[in-house]
Amino acid sequence: MRKFLVAGNWKMNGSAAANAELVDGIAAGKPASDNVELLVCPPFPYLASVAERLSGSGVAVGAQTVSEHAGGAFTGETAAGMLTDVGCTYAIVGHSERRTLMGETSAQVAAKFAAALSAGLTPILCVGETLEEREAGQMVAVIDEQLDAVLDGSGVEAFGRAVIAYEPVWAIGTGLTATPEQAQEVHRHIRARLEALDASVAAGVQILYGGSCKGDNAPGLFVQPDIDGGLIGGASLKAPDFLAIAEAAAAQN
Ligand code: PEP
Repeated sequence: MRKFLVAGNWKMNGSAAANAELVDGIAAGKPASDNVELLVCPPFPYLASVAERLSGSGVAVGAQTVSEHAGGAFTGETAAGMLTDVGCTYAIVGHSERRTLMGETSAQVAAKFAAALSAGLTPILCVGETLEEREAGQMVAVIDEQLDAVLDGSGVEAFGRAVIAYEPVWAIGTGLTATPEQAQEVHRHIRARLEALDASVAAGVQILYGGSCKGDNAPGLFVQPDIDGGLIGGASLKAPDFLAIAEAAAAQN
């Protein structure tokens, strides 16, 4: 039985004072349900302090990206081992903003995924199509290419220790949400692709939905059989908004 995961991607937002208030609110209001895991992904400078503040709270901390390199002369980069060193247990890889704004390729994302795994982090692999790709009938091909790069690099068994996030690019930060049926269709496709390789891994992997997910649309998404939680951007920046999504997951019990 898969648990729900509700993960906050804070992007480049926050300050020491605002983060303290946010994480204290999240920790205090965390649903009692054993069926929901919570994760926050602050910007790099705040990872250590947020992890320390959340220590013992049951709320996990992750990074928004990670270097594919284990260390050395890579100015500005952060190695997976450094993230575990400061208390992170997850790393997002392949977020669409990094694929488009930073030009990360699927091969690079696959290398980051492998680096995260080998340091003991749980990678959250983001996949998703743009509106143009969806309208051109390329949605499945785009998602398969993003997924297959990681399957080729790390093997299906790696998804026994990883999470997938389906994030239609057209729904991120736009207020447009995929309908529960649209999201379920893609989630089912992703799980079926893994099922063809390893049914037990496919049955266990958490597949999150991301894209303008909020307290009011989360219940309809989370009731879908292949949606196991959310990767939340805007609504992760205020504790009550984030907790409303966590409660929607808890209500699925
Ligand atoms: C995201 O960036 O991962 C995201 C889902 O953002 P938002 O919830 O703001 O659409």
